[in-house]
Amino acid sequence: MRILVVEDERRMAEVLRQALVEEDYLVTVAMDGREGLSLAQTGGFDVIILDVMLPGLSGFEIARQLRSRRDQTPILMLTARDSTKDLVEGLDIGADDYLTKPFSFEVLLARVRAVSRRGPIPQPVCLEVAGLTMNPATREVHRGSRSIELTRTQYAILELLMRSAGRVVTRDTLIERVWGGDTDIASNTLDAFIRLLRTRIEEPGQARLIQTVRGVGYSLKPEAG
Ligand code: CA
Repeated sequence: MRILVVEDERRMAEVLRQALVEEDYLVTVAMDGREGLSLAQTGGFDVIILDVMLPGLSGFEIARQLRSRRDQTPILMLTARDSTKDLVEGLDIGADDYLTKPFSFEVLLARVRAVSRRGPIPQPVCLEVAGLTMNPATREVHRGSRSIELTRTQYAILELLMRSAGRVVTRDTLIERVWGGDTDIASNTLDAFIRLLRTRIEEPGQARLIQTVRGVGYSLKPEAG
């Protein structure tokens, strides 16, 4: 499996490279944003580990450019900043997960395994719930006639909710199925993704479809009453 690491701090880049090589990954390191983007665009990487603060181009900008070109390579963001705004911006652009520095390498490796395991599950049956439709073959989502753009992770969460429409999907199930069982994904990451998903599928004035079942999980169904 090939991993691209984009990290400008020489020592951190080297430590990451060594830790990943020891796990038998093939590792390429880029030390500035432009080099990182150009390597990422040559493709062939299974996972991209992306620092946010980089010379040349920020990690956010690299992720944005890749996703705008429909490159769905899993992205794990590294951020020194632990603000909700940064977290939400990174996830909304299309990062699949993030780690706040400093982090343990065991956690990093678990996250890499989790994001790389995930992939689209082709099932050519259209799903429909209260005017919200999803075509798993084309990965197109519509609410009525409005087309909805979702990142890979947003899509994975919505697909799980739609396949269990009307039933509660527990937080543990969502985390397990979307991020993998052995990862210790932060609980607030799931909440951040749900918030983003709501802004995508629920426009002002439209019925809310994602219902919170407090302390348990989420359910996709039209709002009661
Ligand atoms: Ca940096």
